[in-house]
Amino acid sequence: MDAIATEKTAEISLFRDNVRRFFAAEILPHIAEWRRQGMVARDAWRRAGEIGLLCASMPVEFGGGGGDFRHEAVLIEELAAIGFGDFAISLHNAIIAPYILHYGTEAQKRRWLPRMARGEMIAAIAMTEPDAGSDLQAIRTTARRVGENYVISGQKTFISNGQLADLVIVAAKTRGDAGAKGISLIAVETAQTPGFRRGRNLEKIGKHAQDTSELFFDEVTVPAENLLGLVPDQGFAQLMQQLPQERLVIAVGAVAAMEAAVAETIAYTRNRRAFGKPLLEFQNSRFVLAEAKTTARVARVFLDDCIERLLAGTLDVATAAMAKYWTTEMQGKVIDSCLQLFGGYGYMAEYTIAHRYTDARVQRIYGGSNEIMKELIARNL
Ligand SMILES: Cc1cc2nc3c(=O)[nH]c(=O)nc-3n(C[C@H](O)[C@H](O)[C@H](O)COP(=O)(O)OP(=O)(O)OC[C@H]3O[C@@H](n4cnc5c(N)ncnc54)[C@H](O)[C@@H]3O)c2cc1C
Repeated sequence: MDAIATEKTAEISLFRDNVRRFFAAEILPHIAEWRRQGMVARDAWRRAGEIGLLCASMPVEFGGGGGDFRHEAVLIEELAAIGFGDFAISLHNAIIAPYILHYGTEAQKRRWLPRMARGEMIAAIAMTEPDAGSDLQAIRTTARRVGENYVISGQKTFISNGQLADLVIVAAKTRGDAGAKGISLIAVETAQTPGFRRGRNLEKIGKHAQDTSELFFDEVTVPAENLLGLVPDQGFAQLMQQLPQERLVIAVGAVAAMEAAVAETIAYTRNRRAFGKPLLEFQNSRFVLAEAKTTARVARVFLDDCIERLLAGTLDVATAAMAKYWTTEMQGKVIDSCLQLFGGYGYMAEYTIAHRYTDARVQRIYGGSNEIMKELIARNL
C-alpha cells in the first residue's frame, strides 16, 4: 500500500470516528421524535454542516470536505448502523452536490455549494411526477424561457427533503416535443419564491423521518442563470451520467443495513431464551444467521469492488445497476429473516429491526426500480 493510500485510510477512519460520535450524541437521541414529526430537525442539518459532514466529498474551495466517495460511504454506513437512513445526507452530498459540481458554472458552484456545506441550504432533486416515475421522459413540468427568466409550471411527488428543501433541482421540459432531449435541470431557491408550494409530507410505511413530499410549481419565475450549466436540454444526459454513483449510494446503504441487522440479531438471539436455552443455540437460528452473514459478506466484497471502480472512474452502468438491484434484494431477504428471529418484538416499532424491515422495502423501488436495473443489465448481456 502506498503512502497516500495509507494516509487516506487513516484520515477516513478518523472521519468515521467523528461521524459515529456525532450520530451517537446528536442524532440517535432524537430519532423517535423526528419520526413522529415526519422530518429531521433543521438544526441537525446545521450541526452536521458545522462539523464538516455536509458536502464531505466536495472540493474545499467550494466549502466541502475535500474527500471522495469513501467519505460518503462512511456517512451512509454509520447511519445504517443506527438504523436511520431517513436522514438524507447522502442525497444532499453524494447525489445533488455532484450535479452542481459537475455541471454548474463557476458562479453556480460558488453560489450553492458553500451554503449546502454549511447546512444553510438543504437540497432536493425533483424528477418524479404523479404520472412519470420510471419513465422520466414522460414528465410534464415545463420551464418556458421568458426574456432573462425561466417560468416553471408543474407538479412533483415523492421528493425526499421536500419539506425542508431550500434548493430544489427541478427536472423540467424546456423543449416540449423532444422527449428526453428536451429536459433541463433548473435550480429553484425556495425562499420567497412566488408560485412555489410544498404539498403533503407523505405518510409512508417506513423512513418516517424522511420528508418525502409533493411540490407544486405554479408559474415559478427563476433567473435563466439558474439553469444548471446554462445550456438547455442537457438534463437527461446529466442525470444519466451521475447514475452509477447514485446506485452505489443505495447499495452502500443496503450492505451496511444487512451487516447491522445480522450483528443485532446475533446479540438478540444470544440473550433471548426459549425452552431453557438461548435462541442462538437452536440450529435454525444458527443456520439463518450463517446464511445472512454469508450474503452480507458476499455483498460487501462486490460492493467494495464497485467502489474501487467508481473511484477509478471505471464503474459502468450495468455493473452499478447489478449492485443496486442485487444488494437491495438481499437486504430485503436478510432483514426479513433476521426479524423473524426477534419473534413478536421484531414487529414492535421500538425495535430497530422493525424499522430496518420497513425502510428496506423502498430500496427496491427508488433510485431506479429494480426492474429498470434489470433492463439496464439486460441491455449489456
Ligand atoms: C421514499 C421515496 C423517496 C423518493 N425520493 C425521490 C426524490 O427525492 N426525487 C425524485 O425525483 N423521486 C423520488 N422518488 C421516486 C422514485 O424514484 C420513483 O418512485 C421510482 O422511480 C418509480 O417510479 P413510480 O413510483 O412512478 O413507479 P412506476 O414507474 O409507475 O413503476 C411501477 C412498477 O412498474 C415497473 N416498471 C416501470 N417501467 C418498467 C419497465 N420498462 N419494465 C419493467 N417494469 C417496469 C416498476 O419497476 C414498478 O415495479 C422517491 C420515492 C420514494 C418511495
